Amino acid sequence: MNETAHAGQQRQDENLRPTTGEKSPGRVAIVTGAARGIGAATARRLAADGMAVAVLDLDAGSCDATVAAITAAGGHAMAVGANVSRGDQVEEAVGTVAAEMGPPTVLVNNAGVLRDNLLFKMSEDDWDTVLGVHLRGTFLMSRAVQKYMVDQRYGRIVNLSSSSALGNRGQANYSAAKAGLQGLTKTLAIELGPFGITANAVAPGFIATDMTAATAARIGTSFEDFQATVAAQVPVRRIGEVDDVAHTISFLASEGAGFVSGQVIYVAGGPLC
Ligand code: NDP
Repeated sequence: MNETAHAGQQRQDENLRPTTGEKSPGRVAIVTGAARGIGAATARRLAADGMAVAVLDLDAGSCDATVAAITAAGGHAMAVGANVSRGDQVEEAVGTVAAEMGPPTVLVNNAGVLRDNLLFKMSEDDWDTVLGVHLRGTFLMSRAVQKYMVDQRYGRIVNLSSSSALGNRGQANYSAAKAGLQGLTKTLAIELGPFGITANAVAPGFIATDMTAATAARIGTSFEDFQATVAAQVPVRRIGEVDDVAHTISFLASEGAGFVSGQVIYVAGGPLC
């Protein structure tokens, strides 16, 4: 058997191996912005998939509830504090995770902020803050983690884009960042693919979290009314839950998703134009 055929046979044998129910046993994952919302649900889900999870957020103390939930369910997690838009903090945080948990080979770039305003009222600070967390943060985290992935010849990067990447009133900064993330994701897929690393983006529609609750407050409506209005326009007639997004990320972060790369998956209860 030549080398290629041998590798193919080996892959086939691995596919036939009985699974334990864990989709990525023993892998180390970092989830940013995981103190709450989609990030917390994703951290819990990846831990249930068998990964050791670094729960990263601005303040390590704010990650305690997510870490406790994972530990209580029999998983392994640690809290890490870092501002993803700060290169020095990112390098230190990723180094700590590698030293304490092992080389990180799964990265979910989820940390996010909103500074919504119509263009004529949007300050430079509103622009810089949003681009800094979403786009620069994803760049810095991916750059810091890729060296461990390249070394392991394995990696899964999942970036949180948004339906707002298609354009949304009052979100010039956020839309630009989320559309930029789609281009970044495709480029990471091309550059890192030869090292066994995939990069994909998940673009949620409306998901019930503190972020969307804050939007409801800003536009002067109750969160319940806001959700009902949005749900009526969604083909599946409901708003999204954090676990809808975590489930999709779990697939993209799994070992079996190795031939899916450079894709944007909308998790929005229907198609978007
Ligand atoms: P939340 O606001 O609930 O959570 C975001 C988390 O990110 C918070 O814990 C926040 O910390 C943390 N964070 C903010 N800035 C930084 C930073 N510089 N460094 C590290 N952590 C930071 O958001 P969601 O769960 O709703 O959203 C998660 C992701 O999904 C975001 O990228 C968002 O844009 C995206 N998304 C959300 C949608 C939705 O409908 N909810 C729809 C489409 C996309 P702190 O609390 O300290 O500020």
